[in-house]
Amino acid sequence: SGELVLRAVEKSFGSGENRVTAVDHVDLTVHPGEFVTLLGPSGCGKTTTLRMIAGFESPTSGSVLLDGDDMLRFTADRRPMAMVFQSYALFPHMTVFENVAYGLRLRRVPAKQLKEEVGFALASMGLTALAERAPHQLSGGQQQRVALARAMVVKPKVLLFDEPLSNLDAKLRVQMRLEIRRLQRLLGISSVYVTHDQDEAMSLSDRIVVMRNGRIEQVGTPDEIYRTPASVFVADFIGRANFLDVAEASDSSRTGHADIVVLGERMSARAHPDAVQSAASVLMVRPEAIRVRRYAEGDDQVVGNHGRVLNAVFYGESVEYEIETEVGTIVAVVSDPVYEEIVPVGELVGIS
Ligand code: ADP
Ligand code: MG
Repeated sequence: SGELVLRAVEKSFGSGENRVTAVDHVDLTVHPGEFVTLLGPSGCGKTTTLRMIAGFESPTSGSVLLDGDDMLRFTADRRPMAMVFQSYALFPHMTVFENVAYGLRLRRVPAKQLKEEVGFALASMGLTALAERAPHQLSGGQQQRVALARAMVVKPKVLLFDEPLSNLDAKLRVQMRLEIRRLQRLLGISSVYVTHDQDEAMSLSDRIVVMRNGRIEQVGTPDEIYRTPASVFVADFIGRANFLDVAEASDSSRTGHADIVVLGERMSARAHPDAVQSAASVLMVRPEAIRVRRYAEGDDQVVGNHGRVLNAVFYGESVEYEIETEVGTIVAVVSDPVYEEIVPVGELVGIS
């Protein structure tokens, strides 16, 4: 169980000229045990979508179903869901133990069972030794762990996260996202996670929902989103991308096909008398898909598949080149720099 379905969910705020459509016809199914991330720039409707799932906000239209039950009939506290916030939202006057126990006390869970279940939640977050502390005696990472323990202890069918790691420093963020994933796998609870951080989305998710202006732009596994982005927006938002003009050498009278010709090969297309060139399409090339080699022949022209290094940055595990080419400046990332010499700025390189 734990199948969450959003059907044609819409949310508008305000009226008349001030009307803002925050969420615009969102259809989404989260499968039982699945970890789904809503990813997109600030203001694209992620939080509003999450708040409608949780019941803090009611949709203008559409439905929210959990295992076939209409959730809109229930207020937030009656939905079998738990939410983890960026601000942790711990009770400052309660100990760690009591913070985690809170939801179980509301549900009138017997004392012995309560102690066991809180104990398990604290242990799985590595908090056992901190049970009697107050929140202000904890670090940010520890407070976030308490918030996680408090969410999981009530055994929700759905866990909801709204940018829970934004207040933590970079290193702790990476560590906590591994913990969140480990915990979620362990418990097998369907999860919806909101973030604007693409690395977070890539590392946590079974599937990513890319949102833009209140709408879903693409849904897919991290791999699908990265390798086959559905739009320029998605390609640009997830990872880095070069966008190149595509010269389309269409020779339909003979082959019935159009060839896509870029960079060096474009030369041969130009030479082809029947080639029809247009810039109707955009080609996306990831920086790591571009091969760079030192150009040996002493040619000093930026033509065809030759470019000039404008900038070379050594990152240890990779070298990033900015290269001036015939079709504009492109970014190439070369891994294994240890085994390759770094081409200096100003030199010509061959690109493929
Ligand atoms: P995100 O979480 O992706 O940054 P939000 O869901 O918070 O985006 O907001 C989506 C849009 O809805 C934004 O334009 C925001 O200004 C608007 N919005 C959100 N909540 C309200 C509200 N309570 N009243 C009016 N507008 C709102
Ligand atoms: Mg938000």
